[in-house]
Amino acid sequence: MNKFLVFLEQREGVVKKASLSLWNRVQEIAALQNNAVVSGILIGPADIRQLDGAMAGDGVVYHAKDDRYRLYSQEYYTGVIEDTFKREACTALFFADTAMSRDLAPRLSVRLQASLLSGSAVSDADEGGVLRPVYSGSFLASFVPKRHQCIFLLSSNAPLPAYSAGGNIRLIDVEPQNVSMEDIFPVVRQIVMRVGMPDVAEARIIVAGGRGMGGAEGFALLEQLALLLGGAIGASRAAVDEGWRPHAEQIGQTGKTVAPALYFACGISGAVQHLAGMGSAGIVVAINRDRHAPIFDVADYGLAGDVHIVLPKLIDSLKEFLKKQ
Ligand SMILES: Cc1cc2nc3c(=O)[nH]c(=O)nc-3n(C[C@H](O)[C@H](O)[C@H](O)COP(=O)(O)OP(=O)(O)OC[C@H]3O[C@@H](n4cnc5c(N)ncnc54)[C@H](O)[C@@H]3O)c2cc1C
Repeated sequence: MNKFLVFLEQREGVVKKASLSLWNRVQEIAALQNNAVVSGILIGPADIRQLDGAMAGDGVVYHAKDDRYRLYSQEYYTGVIEDTFKREACTALFFADTAMSRDLAPRLSVRLQASLLSGSAVSDADEGGVLRPVYSGSFLASFVPKRHQCIFLLSSNAPLPAYSAGGNIRLIDVEPQNVSMEDIFPVVRQIVMRVGMPDVAEARIIVAGGRGMGGAEGFALLEQLALLLGGAIGASRAAVDEGWRPHAEQIGQTGKTVAPALYFACGISGAVQHLAGMGSAGIVVAINRDRHAPIFDVADYGLAGDVHIVLPKLIDSLKEFLKKQ
């Protein structure tokens, strides 16, 4: 019988939405594969009440909750996951595609001698491979594992499946046996960039800007809009290459893949490499002074105009609207 292990990533004790979404996707995959067993591994202290109603299906979550593991440690996390995977004789390990997972998955692939596959979905084919968009989403390629044991790094852009709240999840505290705290580099300091704004990879609303914002100062307008809406800032590669925004905010083929409910594309032309990262967005609002810009082809609402004129008006109207609420 197949046994799946899902890594539930926490930061500051909060389990990432991408991990919860992944858990529910893996439950769906398990149901299709003769009811494979699904377990989770959560490392570090976390308020487990947040899992209530957010996780579908049956399963066990192994929790290594010691306070020493609050901050991410490459060696320790690798050891705990390896230990759990082997102890439970799992056949597949699933990660949501995040920075932490990209760090862990290759290491675990070597330790477990498992095939590492990254993609957007697990294919239905017998081989149990993954599907991955190639050539900026023009084609879907299927990648097949060579080994029996596999590690899947699945893009976190899929919308949350409609699941019935409240699966039957059992929590088991674990203290990994084969992981030594010796030789582990202690985390001395964690630098948190910008408190108060959601992570662009997880945000429900993204206000993204491109070269058309004209400079780093142009993004101040986008920050105002994002704050009013409770959204996150995103950027095109052109804006990042110009040094106006950090790479962590880049959306697209060589940046993050996002799936917000609402996406503002301001001064962004809509190159295929950018669309590759935001193709799963719900409602797209584009503001561009070139009415023939390709971004309008994917936009639900288009405003043909200068961002420096349109955005202040939009912000003022929104403030007025929010005042009346
Ligand atoms: C291998 C590869 C990977 C790539 N990966 C990525 C990626 O991950 N993400 C990504 O975004 N790009 C990526 N690119 C780059 C991509 O091809 C485009 O060059 C980039 O997306 C363009 O960014 P932009 O839309 O901000 O700039 P531009 O294409 O220069 O567009 C600027 C837009 O702003 C509009 N504009 C200008 N001034 C104003 C104004 N005052 N008001 C309103 N509108 C205005 C213009 O009409 C124009 O449409 C990649 C390219 C390659 C080759």
